[in-house]
Amino acid sequence: MSSCPQLCRRCVDKLEPNPVLQFHPDARILIIGQAPGAAVHRSGIPFDDPSGRRLRQWLAMDESTFYDPQQVAIMPMGLCYPGKGRSGDNPPDPRCAPLWHPQLLPQLQQLRLTLLIGQYAQKRYLAGFTNTTAAVQAWQQWLPQGRLALPHPSPRNNIWLKRNPWFEQALLAPLQQAVAAALA
Ligand code: SF4
Repeated sequence: MSSCPQLCRRCVDKLEPNPVLQFHPDARILIIGQAPGAAVHRSGIPFDDPSGRRLRQWLAMDESTFYDPQQVAIMPMGLCYPGKGRSGDNPPDPRCAPLWHPQLLPQLQQLRLTLLIGQYAQKRYLAGFTNTTAAVQAWQQWLPQGRLALPHPSPRNNIWLKRNPWFEQALLAPLQQAVAAALA
């Protein structure tokens, strides 16, 4: 087994390996998302898509900060594009996070804030997880522990955002304050 995630070919039986992550041990913020989409698979740049544009708006973060690995680490639940399913992309390959996260997380000694995007990251990292809406609503519980659950910023999630206007009304300001404090 490789000790470098970029060289990993573990799932070649199910997908075309092309691990996409951003990592430096000095990073203050960690983003754990779902898995790269097709556009990110091609570009090799994490969140180089409409999801990323919306996420940067939510965080009030410019691209130069977002793509500075000494400030922001990006390590999804599946590092490789999982391919297309019947309705949208397949879920992240379940072999990936158990293989790589335990090797990478202990290296992040300056970490102040972890953003858990979507149900797969929330299920792994939030005790008692039931569903994304409840996890996002519980932000006052998680923030003192340096963690926040976020909905997926994908345009495919517009219906959730429309049904839950409280997210942008109540959570974006504390989210942006937590981000600024983590980078200060
Ligand atoms: S999804 Fe993860 S475990 Fe599978 S090949 Fe990519 S990096 Fe390796």
